[in-house]
Amino acid sequence: MRTQLDTLVSAALQQGSAVPAFTCYDFTTALAVVAAAEESGRGAILLVAPKTAATPNGLRLIAALRGLADAAGVPVAVQLDHATDPQVIADAVSAGADSVLVDGSALAYEDNIALVRGVRAALEAQGRADVVIEAELGGLAGDEDRAFGTDAAGDAAGHAAGKSVSDQPAGLTDSAQVEDFVARTGAQLLAVAVGNVHGKYKGEPRLRWDVLQDIAVRTRIPLVLHGASGIPAEELVKAAAMNVGKVNFNTELRTGVLAVLEEQTAAHRADGENLQALLRHWDSSARTFAAAALATLSR
Ligand SMILES: [Zn+2]
Repeated sequence: MRTQLDTLVSAALQQGSAVPAFTCYDFTTALAVVAAAEESGRGAILLVAPKTAATPNGLRLIAALRGLADAAGVPVAVQLDHATDPQVIADAVSAGADSVLVDGSALAYEDNIALVRGVRAALEAQGRADVVIEAELGGLAGDEDRAFGTDAAGDAAGHAAGKSVSDQPAGLTDSAQVEDFVARTGAQLLAVAVGNVHGKYKGEPRLRWDVLQDIAVRTRIPLVLHGASGIPAEELVKAAAMNVGKVNFNTELRTGVLAVLEEQTAAHRADGENLQALLRHWDSSARTFAAAALATLSR
């Protein structure tokens, strides 16, 4: 059913849990995520990567996800992830996205604020003041769509090159900026960098709970943790107590789907090119992962 992303997240936080968000590059994965959410009786968020949304087929995928979300038996939101391009944002919202992560984290502080405010004004001009805006403060290392080992300082053999933060090192959100940033951007959710990375962690993930705690006491809006793949469940459980109401998953979902396809493709090719049965394995892998994430975040 249709929901406002901020309402969904706030309701979860009131119960001491967080809402998982899953990157969907395709409809099969989205079907599996929504089925898992329905089975758990909890809401979920479908994320669309900006590279996906920048293509005509990507916009059709968003429209399909919109239909899927609206018809679901639990609240489901459709969010455009990590967007910076005003045209892609406008197109994605027109296609059915009800929330946008306006990601100015690679920009200087004032430029980040200006980007978020500009998107808000453009959405209002588009007649879409209802669209929920998440903003990001602090540079998250790694690549959203491709997994390479990365540590929080962005040391991933050059793969973090897309994110050069001009006024602070890649990594941590400066908690001293949080109040001003939230007030001036009007963001409804805040994505933070507290040692989390996109893609795979190089070594053990080391979340900076002290920094997260510092951020949590400075704002009332829900916080968002990106790059949750690889962070142990026991750690994720603690996050909701620090006002983290949304946790993004991508890499582990892909790892599982790719593993099952690799393992099953030959047998299904031999079985009369049985794509239908192969897709059931894809569904099962994504569904199992989503169910586990839903369970972890509602412990
Ligand atoms: Zn992210």
